[in-house]
Amino acid sequence: MRITIMTLFPQMIEQAVSHSIMGRAIEASQVEIRAVNIRDYSNNKHKQVDDYPYGGGAGMLMKPGPVKWCYEAICESSPNTKKRVMYMTPHGKPWKQAMADEFAKEEEIVILCGHYEGIDQRVIEDIVTDEVSIGDFVLTGGELAALVITDSIVRLLPNVLGKQESFQEESFCDGLLEYYHYTRPAVFEGKEVPEVLLSGHHKNIEKYRRQNSLENTYKKRPDLLEQVQLSVEDRKFLQSVGYNNI
Ligand code: SAM
Repeated sequence: MRITIMTLFPQMIEQAVSHSIMGRAIEASQVEIRAVNIRDYSNNKHKQVDDYPYGGGAGMLMKPGPVKWCYEAICESSPNTKKRVMYMTPHGKPWKQAMADEFAKEEEIVILCGHYEGIDQRVIEDIVTDEVSIGDFVLTGGELAALVITDSIVRLLPNVLGKQESFQEESFCDGLLEYYHYTRPAVFEGKEVPEVLLSGHHKNIEKYRRQNSLENTYKKRPDLLEQVQLSVEDRKFLQSVGYNNI
């Protein structure tokens, strides 16, 4: 997969993706991530990319030209692959694990980062296929959002994580939050690891984890329970811990 991030701050992207799992995935050629500087496509001698908004109001707006010409150069460099073009914006669809699963199947993704008050609407309508938000708050620019999206996609690519299970049992995979984890020592400052986890009894461990996952979700994100398919046993357990919305 190739991910190209259109930005005014390529170093923010390059720095962040060079570490940890994303850095290893790039080194192993499991993903290509490149940051392209929109400013390089300005036709202005001062490399200006922003201007005052028509109609007045506070702040500056990114001009459509440099964004369009930058995108055209990206298309010229890989003319034969279909591209999903995501614009990072608080107006977008809230990013979810299911969307990361969907985008992880794409061959090429382009992520457009806005800055200032945003980007001239005409070029958004022209090149963007998906508007994406990382939450109901406003960031100063799209770079951090692009990194969040990129990280959540890259970890799903084949062989990027050590074992398949690493992401198959995580929060949101089955619509629930994950169960709690414990490691050595078995007793830490007087607190013991739940006994069942030390028992080696796989069926009981599985049952304990399912129930722990259900209870966590009920306590922390009860909204998620409304969208999950629950078994009779799940429902009984949830009722036993006080969840009545069944
Ligand atoms: N004027 C815009 C508004 O009120 O909707 C906010 C612009 S914001 C200051 C600048 C840029 O940050 C946006 O163009 C977008 O790329 C990015 N951004 C801000 N909040 C975001 C969010 N919640 N999710 C994704 N991108 C965001």
